[in-house]
Amino acid sequence: MFQNYTFNLNKKLSKSSLWYCTSRSFRGCRCTLKCDRENPLIVETVEGEHNHDPPQYFRSESGVWCKLRG
Ligand SMILES: [Zn+2]
Repeated sequence: MFQNYTFNLNKKLSKSSLWYCTSRSFRGCRCTLKCDRENPLIVETVEGEHNHDPPQYFRSESGVWCKLRG
């Protein structure tokens, strides 16, 4: 989870991993996070903007969501 939005892991690169917003498929949201490959808590860059409000409820599947610790 990042700034109240949730993301799914899309693919792993050599040094980082790409996470797509969970609303990408059914809302066409283009927001993508690039995180550290080994530690997804570290968000390197945010690309695109959300075209929707944050979801109000989150599933807690450890290791699935990209989270940023304050
Ligand atoms: Zn989004």
